[in-house]
Amino acid sequence: MRRRNLLKGIAASVLQIAFRPRWPLQAQVTRPITRRVRPTDRQWPGPDSWAKLRAAVGGNLLEPQPLFAACEKDAKSAACAEVLGNIRNPFYIGDQPAGTEVSGWLDAWTPAASAYAIAARTADDVAAGVRFAVEHNLRLVVKGGGHSYLGTSNAPDSLLIWTRAMNKVTLHDAFVGLGCEGRVAPVNAVTAEAGAMWIDLYHAVTTEAGRYVQGGGCTTVGVAGLVQSGGFGSFSKGFGTAAAGLLEAEVVTANGKVRTVNACNNEDLFWALKGGGGGSFGVVTKVTLRTHPLPEFFGFAGGTISAQSDSAFRELIHRFFEFYRDKLFNPHWGESIKIRPDNVLELSMVCQGLNDGEVTRVWQPLFDWVKTVPELKMTDVSAGARPARSWWDVVARKKRGSRAMISDPRPGAPVTHAYWSGDQDQVGAFVHGYDSVWLPAKLLQGNELLRLVNALFAASRLKKVELHFNKGIAGAPAEAVARTRDTATNPAVVDAFVLVIIADGERPSYPGLPRPAMDTTAARNNAHKIDLAITELRKLAPDAGSYVSESNYFNASWQKAYWGKNYSRLRAIKAKYDPEGLFFVRHGVGSEDWSNDGFTRLTKRG
Ligand SMILES: Cc1cc2nc3c(=O)[nH]c(=O)nc-3n(C[C@H](O)[C@H](O)[C@H](O)COP(=O)(O)OP(=O)(O)OC[C@H]3O[C@@H](n4cnc5c(N)ncnc54)[C@H](O)[C@@H]3O)c2cc1C
Repeated sequence: MRRRNLLKGIAASVLQIAFRPRWPLQAQVTRPITRRVRPTDRQWPGPDSWAKLRAAVGGNLLEPQPLFAACEKDAKSAACAEVLGNIRNPFYIGDQPAGTEVSGWLDAWTPAASAYAIAARTADDVAAGVRFAVEHNLRLVVKGGGHSYLGTSNAPDSLLIWTRAMNKVTLHDAFVGLGCEGRVAPVNAVTAEAGAMWIDLYHAVTTEAGRYVQGGGCTTVGVAGLVQSGGFGSFSKGFGTAAAGLLEAEVVTANGKVRTVNACNNEDLFWALKGGGGGSFGVVTKVTLRTHPLPEFFGFAGGTISAQSDSAFRELIHRFFEFYRDKLFNPHWGESIKIRPDNVLELSMVCQGLNDGEVTRVWQPLFDWVKTVPELKMTDVSAGARPARSWWDVVARKKRGSRAMISDPRPGAPVTHAYWSGDQDQVGAFVHGYDSVWLPAKLLQGNELLRLVNALFAASRLKKVELHFNKGIAGAPAEAVARTRDTATNPAVVDAFVLVIIADGERPSYPGLPRPAMDTTAARNNAHKIDLAITELRKLAPDAGSYVSESNYFNASWQKAYWGKNYSRLRAIKAKYDPEGLFFVRHGVGSEDWSNDGFTRLTKRG
């Protein structure tokens, strides 16, 4: 068997592909790879090789079918009815090997099933997959929660390593990283396997144990994908990014080795995993994150304020930002507002560490002022706080009649599995356009504030503008700022008070999903309007960065936008741990060496 593989390897040298097949020992590449093999290539592994891999991963090797394959085959089948019935359920999509949370992006990417997928159960399964991909020169792709807007967790003709089934969560009272004994003080922490979703951690850490872990806002996002993105949740203004809370990771690197990395072991790789982008440095199999004392209360302020004229709306925006600067620009307040073309300001702010009375007192002056302006009208405005421990307690929420969270409706689904109703629109959505920009906090000061207001107003004439205050770390406590600064995320994040997102799309458009044809001309016009709107904001901060996971697929200066001055360090770490570029994601670190699909090397390795 091994001899046959060796012969295949020799044949592959025609394509300048050569390796020494030593699997299952540590994988070793002897010459630079110039092209990955596809199922149509004669170097593609034969049935015996796949059978061997299947055995090595405990039988958990799948041949994924596209999400709507059943409907393409027979639109009346039960299997088609099942996928149609679940297509707005993020848990269901995440449970499918070919599932992607969004259904594609106009002129950018279309969901595609891998040729094979390892539904990994252990780090050893992952390592077996990595070694197999090296041995056979396969295009490897990694998927956790499947929430990549940019489509980086699916690729045709690839081998997928899928971590969904690895979802154990363990709490620690006194965690010390491997090799850090005696060097760092023990801390409270939580370890999650890579396929866990944030709701799994919030349930274990907050609902059950009464502590706090900094994760993502969307409860169905995967932990490893979010931490490697940097990662923001509603309360990041108080605790920093998710990456800033990483204490240790277990990761399988391109040589097939399972490593434990932290501040004392492979410190460079550890740093790269903190915001250097998912899928570029290795397969993370476990993360350990710091936990914090839980604030007593989490609060909210919501509703809409509409204006009858452009001038009243501009005045409202001005007044809101003065209010934000004076009362909300602090560790307590996060989440978002939306400034709409129809002169409506939507409030969906949340806070931590303020009680009901304090929340009401903060907002009352703004609400009182609105009442004095005849051209403004408030609808459904409310503000208050609740015990923090029940924030993610799905069962308690349901008992009190809250509709803020939607449960996974499938029979047998864990009762703890629910997602915010505000995220519903994004499930399965097809993206027309998307962009984001970090705005520096200096725009809140002096005359700059007026420039900010004018730019936001101008952008809002074109598209709805979302301001995510929790995704800019300026205004956070010094310790959270320092920990966030010690990550690979663009340092612009700690100078920014907000991440502005302008995005739009339409209902699901998965390949094979029966639906009316898309109006691509209208969709392209929509994308163009997003570009024009974001340009208004870039005038304020021409070099502003953009959040790697909520960004523009077509951003030509992605290295600078996502990582700023950290990019050269990340590039060096990539070259050290993955010299052959096994781990490829488009617009990920080192991806400039490869074609957009990750199959062809464009540069010579030096
Ligand atoms: C509906 C929605 C809501 C979102 N909400 C938020 C939010 O509140 N806050 C925020 O900061 N971001 C948010 N995001 C962005 C999200 O955090 C990132 O896209 C994140 O990378 C998704 O991780 P995932 O595991 O769910 O996705 P995947 O698509 O599985 O993975 C994303 C990337 O990480 C890589 N990856 C995944 N698992 C691993 C692993 N184990 N080892 C190595 N690489 C891996 C993949 O290869 C891919 O490149 C949201 C996205 C969506 C679609």
